Amino acid sequence: MKILDQTHDQFADAFRRRYGKGTYYSTAVYRHVMKTGKTAFYGLEPFTRFPELAGQLESDLVLSPGRLVKQVSDGGVVKFVTRLADDLDIESVIIPMFKRYTLCVSSQVGCRMRCRFCQTGMMGLVRNLTAAEIVGQVFAARHRLGFDVRNVVFMGMGEPLDNLDNVVQAIRVLADQRGLDIARRYITVSTVGLTDGIGRLSRFDGPPVNLAVSLNAPNDDIRSRLMPINRSIPMAALKEALQRYPLAKKSALFMEYVLIQGINDRQEHAGALARYLSPMKVKLNLIPYNPAPGSDFNPPSAEAYERFHAWLVAENVFVRRRGEKGGRIMAACGQLGGKNRP
Ligand code: SF4
Repeated sequence: MKILDQTHDQFADAFRRRYGKGTYYSTAVYRHVMKTGKTAFYGLEPFTRFPELAGQLESDLVLSPGRLVKQVSDGGVVKFVTRLADDLDIESVIIPMFKRYTLCVSSQVGCRMRCRFCQTGMMGLVRNLTAAEIVGQVFAARHRLGFDVRNVVFMGMGEPLDNLDNVVQAIRVLADQRGLDIARRYITVSTVGLTDGIGRLSRFDGPPVNLAVSLNAPNDDIRSRLMPINRSIPMAALKEALQRYPLAKKSALFMEYVLIQGINDRQEHAGALARYLSPMKVKLNLIPYNPAPGSDFNPPSAEAYERFHAWLVAENVFVRRRGEKGGRIMAACGQLGGKNRP
């Protein structure tokens, strides 16, 4: 019986059909599994009188869609690799944020967007992850590795809006208060800018999640060179879709700008970027490019990075420095890939 891809209500329906028992029992099971990661039910209150049901449940529940095969850390950042049932590997990254943790999850094995600065993009798309495989990453980080994950960002391998049905189901499960209980305001979906997907995400039930856009360029010319998707969805169409996205109270759109030496790092680029972002309510993350083996690109020098940051501040852009946390373990932006890479 599946649980990781089920909201509480879906699980309760399936439980009733299978065992003929109501929510008094199914809620106890759902809470116990999702909040503790354990599947031993002997001694748990509703089952003290039904030890045979407790035993049956333990053998029925399908909990893990994969197994942890590797874990590396660098300066507090932890990358772990999950091997899925079909022997493909996915990567997830745990990033410390004050006393709690942000988990960067993968949504696909590989990615079809082929952004030129990205290791995952070099793989092409292998397959979509199921909702259980997405939720399984959070489950593993919390209950197998013991990290108190509060924020979830869909910024790992894959383009989440290219796998929207499973991503939306995973968000429903993650946000279920009777289970993992990660509030939607702490969930961020990052996209290259698939406008149809942005529209569908904005109409999905319940409060909106945060939206992040991997922008990386001040104009269509540069963006199309870095990100092939821009040839079919240019920046003006993207901006229109973004302006329609419903933001949660006190929230903003997040934009990622990977600064690459000699490509998108000039003063005129900072000015054009500021004009593009106006009048949207935006928080821009400025990320120095992380060099990867075989890449054509180079990272900016520390001075070039600071200069670009200062130009954006002078243009009144809300810009935040984002370091290269995790760069040494290939866990930084655009560096996930691992063994599935051809
Ligand atoms: S940056 Fe994101 S969307 Fe682009 S190729 Fe990499 S994983 Fe895919």
